[in-house]
Parts: sequence; C-alpha cells; structure tokens
Amino acid sequence: MKSDVVRCKRMPCSGCPLSTPLEKVILDLASETKVSVKLCKEKPPVTIIGAGPAGIAFGIYMTQYGYRVTIYERENQIGGMMRYGIPDFRFNKDVIQELEVSVKKMGIKIKKNISYTKCGKGITVVATGAGVSKKLGIEGEDNSEFVIGALEFLKQQEHDICGKKVAIIGGGNVAVDCAMVTATQGADATIYYRKNESDLSICLKERVKSRKQGVHYELCMSPKRFEDKKIIFEKDGEEIIVKADIAIVAIGQGIDTNVFKEKDLLFLGDCVTGTSTVIDVIGAARKLANELNHVNDVSCE
Ligand SMILES: Cc1cc2nc3c(=O)[nH]c(=O)nc-3n(C[C@H](O)[C@H](O)[C@H](O)COP(=O)(O)OP(=O)(O)OC[C@H]3O[C@@H](n4cnc5c(N)ncnc54)[C@H](O)[C@@H]3O)c2cc1C
Ligand code: SF4
Repeated sequence: MKSDVVRCKRMPCSGCPLSTPLEKVILDLASETKVSVKLCKEKPPVTIIGAGPAGIAFGIYMTQYGYRVTIYERENQIGGMMRYGIPDFRFNKDVIQELEVSVKKMGIKIKKNISYTKCGKGITVVATGAGVSKKLGIEGEDNSEFVIGALEFLKQQEHDICGKKVAIIGGGNVAVDCAMVTATQGADATIYYRKNESDLSICLKERVKSRKQGVHYELCMSPKRFEDKKIIFEKDGEEIIVKADIAIVAIGQGIDTNVFKEKDLLFLGDCVTGTSTVIDVIGAARKLANELNHVNDVSCE
C-alpha cells in the first residue's frame, strides 16, 4: 500500500529559498544600497525594463560598480510579483517601499507607468518576469464571468467571494495562494489537482497551513470543460460535475518576451527561467552584473 506520509519535494527546508522570510530577503537587498558609490560617466548607461526583484537587484549591483542606471516599470508601483502576486497576509509589502527609498537615494532613476520595449542607450536588460497566467485550453475557458487566471485574480484589490464556492485548478504554490486568499475572505475554497498528493508542488508547510484554514483538496481530478457555472472533471474514467461560483486557473505562469524585437537585449530573472523565487532572481542579477562589469570595466576618474 502506498504510504500516506507526504514529503515536500524540496526537503530539507534549510537551504530552500522558500524558507527564508521574504521581508528579510528584501531588507538585505536594501542594505546593499548603503555602500558608498562613485558614478562613472565613462561607463555605458544601463537601462532596465521591469522593476521586479530581478531588475531592482541588477540596478543596485550595477550602481555599486559605478554605472548610471534607469529602470522602466509599466505599473504605477515597483516590486513586480512581490507587489501584485504574493498575497498581503504572507508578505509585509511595506519593505518594498523601504527598498524603493534606498534605491532612489543610491542614484537609480525609476520611471513608472511606462511600458518599454526597445533598447535604451548603452546596456539594456529585460527583467519583465513571467506575468501571463497559463490556460488549460479547454472548452468554456473564455467565459470570463466564471473563469479567471490566477495572476489576474491575485492582482484584484477586492474580491466579492464571501460565502461563495471557489474552485482553484492547479497544484502549485500560486494555487495555494489563491486558495488561502479566498478561504481567509470567507469563501469555500477547494483545490482541484489532476494528480496525487505526492505530486503536488505546493510547499508542505503551506499545505498544512491551508488545510487548517479550511482549504479542501480534491485529487486526481482532470478538468475537461467549463459549462455555465460548472466544471466537468474526469476521475478514474468517470465524469464528475462540480458547481462553483468562480473557477481560478492556477496552472503556471508563462513568459511574453515577443514584444522585444531588437538585438543586443539581455534577459534576466523569471522572464528567462519561468517563475522561480525572489532569492534566485537576486542571485542571477548579481551574477549578470559581475559578468557585465568584467566585460565593460573601464577606469574612472
Ligand atoms: C502568486 C505568487 C506567489 C509567489 N510567492 C513567492 C514566495 O513566497 N517567495 C519567493 O521567493 N517567490 C515567490 N514567488 C515568485 C517571485 O515573485 C518571482 O520569482 C519574482 O518576483 C520574479 O522576479 P522578476 O523581477 O524576474 O519578475 P517580476 O517580479 O514578475 O517583475 C517583472 C516586472 O516587469 C514589469 N514589466 C513587464 N513588462 C514590462 C514592460 N514592457 N515595460 C516595463 N515594465 C514591464 C512588470 O510590471 C513587473 O513589475 C511568487 C510568485 C507568484 C506569482
Ligand atoms: S516544506 Fe516548504 S520551505 Fe520546506 S523545503 Fe518544502 S518548499 Fe521549502
């Protein structure tokens, strides 16, 4: 018989990027702005597209090396998925504000509300993330009165879901974030996943927490189509009809870099790897900054 003991695929927690509180990660990054910096006109200017953690971290490390940095952000606030994806109850977003103040003091220019798609002067790095909710590609999915993508749902400031039945389709950390947002707002939240418990890629700690908050899990449920306010699943060769008020599709995030046509652009963060973690993209930013500084190093007065 299969064991009921479920382990996290990433275990052990020590060393797992999800085990470090995000507030600490961001405050550590902000402390990197406190070093004394001498900006150098001989070095090429740096344009960064996207003010998520990858773009901001890259901007900080390049400024430390004396480059003059401008970051373009299409939203009216910086932070990327930390701001618009990760729910408030899991992450104190005040630290993003602290980070922004430190970054500006360091001399980095941030231009918000600008969707930028071309090369800037000097070095241009695209750090636009993985911000497209993937679709199931099944019948009825375009019914926007009933079906919504996970990122679109999480970005909404207010949800009218108290007392409603919410079906979340997926088996990853974004699915459980959607479920916990709905459960904490008084909805009846159920995660429908097409495989077994042991295949779930939800952090085990989050799984335990979500169950305590009343989130239900229905396993081996493969979605086939949406009909009005119903989801038709297949389980063990049989059709199962689930009624719900809202269906959230949380099956992963895609990358849209097709808008970037010019050559000589460099790419960084989730727009290269798909959704990863904040620590991982900060690490990638440091590595890219070290490499570029090595290539472009010029002596400065
Ligand atoms: C729901 C959810 C929960 C998560 N929870 C965690 C967690 O607990 N811990 C963790 O470590 N990670 C978590 N992650 C993953 C983490 O948020 C990402 O790995 C990280 O934010 C990626 O950073 P990034 O800078 O590459 O991209 P993003 O954070 O996506 O930032 C990209 C930025 O680029 C901007 N942009 C896009 N196109 C343009 C354009 N043309 N012009 C200008 N700006 C543009 C976007 O508006 C955005 O601000 C989570 C992700 C999601 C979706
Ligand atoms: S339980 Fe969560 S924190 Fe621990 S290793 Fe798994 S994903 Fe990481």
